[in-house]
Formats: sequence, C-alpha cells, structure tokens
Amino acid sequence: MKTTRCLWVLALALSFASLWADERSTAERFEKAKRSEPELIAFLKQMPKGADLHNHVTGAIYSDFMLDHAVATGLHFNLKTTLFQRDPGETTVPARQLQENWLYYRQFMYAVSMAGSFPAVKSGHDHFFDTFQYIGPANAGRSSGDILFEVIDRARAQNIQYLELMTSVSPGPAYSAFMANLPSTEDLDEAHAALAPRLPALVEASVKFVEERDAEISKRLGFDVFDPASPTTVRYVFSANRLAENDAFFAQIMAGMAIAQASPRVVSLNIVAPEDFVTGRLNFERQMEMIDYLWRRYGQPPLTLHAGELTLEISPFETMRNRIRQTIVKGHAQRIGHGISIAWEDDLPGLLAMMRERRVAVEVCLTSNASILKVEGDRHPIHLYLENGIPVTLNTDDEGVSRSNLTHEYVRAVRSYGFDYRQLKTFARNGLEYSFLPGEGLYRGSYDALRPGFERVRDEDWTPDLDAREAMAGSQKLAAQVRLERAFVAFEK
Ligand SMILES: [Zn+2]
Repeated sequence: MKTTRCLWVLALALSFASLWADERSTAERFEKAKRSEPELIAFLKQMPKGADLHNHVTGAIYSDFMLDHAVATGLHFNLKTTLFQRDPGETTVPARQLQENWLYYRQFMYAVSMAGSFPAVKSGHDHFFDTFQYIGPANAGRSSGDILFEVIDRARAQNIQYLELMTSVSPGPAYSAFMANLPSTEDLDEAHAALAPRLPALVEASVKFVEERDAEISKRLGFDVFDPASPTTVRYVFSANRLAENDAFFAQIMAGMAIAQASPRVVSLNIVAPEDFVTGRLNFERQMEMIDYLWRRYGQPPLTLHAGELTLEISPFETMRNRIRQTIVKGHAQRIGHGISIAWEDDLPGLLAMMRERRVAVEVCLTSNASILKVEGDRHPIHLYLENGIPVTLNTDDEGVSRSNLTHEYVRAVRSYGFDYRQLKTFARNGLEYSFLPGEGLYRGSYDALRPGFERVRDEDWTPDLDAREAMAGSQKLAAQVRLERAFVAFEK
C-alpha cells in the first residue's frame, strides 16, 4: 500500500516536472523570439490564443477579398465616389480594371482600410469611421456566410479556439419589418407593449437564419462551428447602433435580447459606432436606462459594451468621468470594450475594486486604439488594468480595416509591453474564462487550480474518461477550456 502511494506521488511529481519543463522550454524559446518581429510572428502564429472576443465582422473583411468578390460578380467601380455599384455609369470602370490599374486599386484600398490613413490630412479616427461607407457596396450580393467563412478560417489558421463575432443575426426583411413604424419610447412600458406582438416572427426567423448559416459555414470549414470541441468555435453578439434615435435604439436592444434568449448561438449584445459622436454622448443615459429596462425582462443576458473609447481630443472630460462606471452599473456590462478613458473616472480605486469584485473583463484592442485614438505605448491603460487585477483579453476589433489579425495583436502586446509567455497564456485563457459560453469552467479560482476530475488535463497522455466526457458534454465552457489546454500541450511539446 505504502509503496503504491509512493509510486503514485513519484508519478505525479514527474508529470508536474515534465509539465513545467515543457512550459519552461517553450518560454525560453519565446524569450529568444522576442529579439525580432518575424521570429515573434513565427512563434505567436502557432501559439494557441484562446479567443477573439471583440471582432466586428464588417470591419474584419480584408479589402483584397472584397475586390475579388467585386470582380467575380461583375461590379463597377465609381471613380468619383469610390463606391462599387451594380450598373455601369459615366464615371465607372469594371471592377476587374482595379486588378490592372494601380491608381484605381490604390483609390479603393486606401479608402477602405487604414492602409490609406494619413493623419496629417485626416485623423485616424475620421479615416477609420469613413471606411465603412465603402465596405457595404463592395460586398453587395456577398452572403454573410461567405464573409464569416473568411473570418473564421483566418482564426483557425492562427490557432484561435473561440470567436464571439459581432454581426447581423437576422434575415434582412424580417429585421426591417420589426424596425418599421416604431412606437415612441417616452414611456418604456408602452413602447415595449407595442413592439411585443412583432417579436415572435423576428425571433423565429433569426433562430433559423443563424442555424442555417452555421450549417453552411461548418460544411465549408469541415467542422461544426457550434461544437465547443471544434478547432474554432463560434458564437455571435448582436450589435445595436448607439447613434440611432432613442426609439430605434430601444427596438434594436429588444430584438437583440429576445434573439439571444432564444438562440444558443447568440450569446450577447453590444452597442457600436463612435462613442464620441454627439448622439452617443447626449443619449447615453437614456440608452443605459433602456438596456436596464430590457435586461431585467429578457433573462438578464451577459452583456459586453463598448465604453470609454475616448480621449480628451474627441471627448470632454465630463463625459469620461463616469462612462465606464455607468456602463457597468446601469448597463450591466460584464465586459467592457476598450476602456481607454478609465483614468479619468471619478473614484478610480472604487471603480477598479468594483470591476475586480464583479469580474468585469476589459477587451483590449491595441492596433485599433493606436490607429483610431493615437493611444499606444505608455498612453494605453493596459498596465493600469493588469496592476489592479482586472482581467484583460487581446482582441482585433476590425482586423480587415486595421490590416491586422490576432497574432499581430499578440506581437504588438509583446513588443510594446514586453509580456512574458505566462502572461500571454493568461490572455489566452482569459479569452475563454470571460467568454459568454455557458456552463461551469475548468478552473477553480486560478488557472493553476483545476476542476476535480481534470487535474491531469495538462499531461501529455491525458484522455478524458467517461466522467470527464460527461462533464464536458454538460458545459460548453469546460469543453472549450479543455480544448485550449490540450492545444497548449500540443504547442509546448
Ligand atoms: Zn469595437
């Protein structure tokens, strides 16, 4: 008996030793790779990166593929407006001419991505938000499934286990019907009662739409994007426009929450568009009231909301004094997008303590912040969050417009802040821990403490027994986290 126990302890010690040896040698490899960007890219491209939790699909499309689509479907490019159109006109050329004429090509490429941002002429902020007027027409007739395939396949190729994508989750006609002739929101109860009868048709159409689209994408990718054990698992986040008038804003949030309640593929809602713009500033409090009102009626869904994507250059100090706090307290945000203006908040220690207590995570988007807000290096609050124990994830925001991807975000994080391999693994694990996948997770208070029954999940020869398989079938989050830990084992081998 005694001998058996000794052997068991020895085996355990050896397995830990080998675990640490593997992580240590990988960390050493990483430290060496830090000397140059290409070496870092080579290392980080292969490294499991957990999740991209902040990704606007419209901004994720690469302009190169928009052009391929425009050529394949015979669109025409208007040299005067820089927009693609279906029919030829006096100032148009066929899309294929952009493949031959460098000047035409550059006109489009520069307008539709940050490759054409020249801050001396127009601020990065303005150039960024202007790109979106060119993206829609260039993708005319392209299915959302095709666009999603581009984004998910890119994530898979970079060893990203999970995506929460902000994209439309309803068929156009059903959504337009819901949004037509909106009631006044002066009285929220009345507005809600007036809209409620329209809801079932929209919800039913949306649930079906997302399911069918997932089936189409899964077929093309060769794995089920809903399955948390797939190479890359996908969920969706409904986007509401914060620049919409109050009546439309209310209807959007109501639609999003009802769809999220009905579809396991739609896990959350966000509010998008420039936060500094006048409507975003003036309507903010009313918007939070509306979110609060609907959140209580639609099952209290987990929310991720952009907040504090602001600097003094584009926002008065007054707005930044409570933007993030209000978004959490009144808007029930469980995750904050950007959180750049945090240092300007009133009672900062109190706010940070509350975030820590409520486990509010911050979705950091380094390239986006650098190019839109000129916030990079020591102008970025990432250290303020990390030092105060606030969980941080790394994300792309708009990888196509920014000409970035998640690997590049990790590269940027390392080159700007010198993070070590352990910290990068924490970012990756945070991506799943603070995801909105349902179920109890793998960890118990820290990433070193594993759920009973999964203590050996980081051992090379681990395979799930019947109990483990049952537990994973019962928790999507657990299954995705096991998937990530196994990806680390493979990577560190
Ligand atoms: Zn964003």
